[in-house]
Amino acid sequence: MSETPSETPKTPEIYKCCENPQITYLAPVNINVDEKTIGTVDVWRCASCKRKFCEEKQLGIESITDTVGMPRIGDDEKWGVVVSKLQKGKDKWKLVKLKQNGIIKYETVDEKILDLKIEDYKIVDDFHTSFLVEDHLNRAVEI
Ligand SMILES: [Zn+2]
Repeated sequence: MSETPSETPKTPEIYKCCENPQITYLAPVNINVDEKTIGTVDVWRCASCKRKFCEEKQLGIESITDTVGMPRIGDDEKWGVVVSKLQKGKDKWKLVKLKQNGIIKYETVDEKILDLKIEDYKIVDDFHTSFLVEDHLNRAVEI
């Protein structure tokens, strides 16, 4: 193992969406409760491959989610926000990756795993709804 010194730091693997990543900030989506912003999803986009990356930010709270940084998303997935009707405040929403159809394993605040049904990139459930991040760029979503 020999390491070749290079001038530019290597792009971390997580950002390597394609051969020539050019990731820039695209837009925020604000999450509002009672017209007050409680959190934000920051959306980034690679100018080369057009993939989007999202970062969940809870206002005033240190990030403790497992979606720190810009995690990869599958080509068959879209970024979405799950909204729980059972929770309040910051626990009411969560950034997730939605497939077009199927089941998502959703971890609740009390660490229970729920199977939520997805139909056409939307959660179909009595107590949970969802929306796609890309549909709400530069906007605030009241949850
Ligand atoms: Zn890329």
